[in-house]
Amino acid sequence: MAAIEFIEERCKGCGLCVIACPKELLKVSSHLNRAGYPVSTIEDMDACTGCALCAEMCPDVVITVFK
Ligand code: SF4
Ligand code: SF4
Repeated sequence: MAAIEFIEERCKGCGLCVIACPKELLKVSSHLNRAGYPVSTIEDMDACTGCALCAEMCPDVVITVFK
């Protein structure tokens, strides 16, 4: 099973990772980081394939995928 780590403080809530996920597992949550941006989260970790498209898409290197 894959695991995903978010470095929340880097996230700007742009939503590019949400668009990138072929399984539509990511969303920009209502939780704000210290800079005041809403941060991305994964909704169903068990469904993640570990494809890492979300991590490749993120311009701020927020996401690391472990397989
Ligand atoms: S690793 Fe792939 S399946 Fe998992 S959240 Fe990222 S884009 Fe979606
Ligand atoms: S994790 Fe990256 S791509 Fe996703 S919302 Fe945050 S900054 Fe944007």
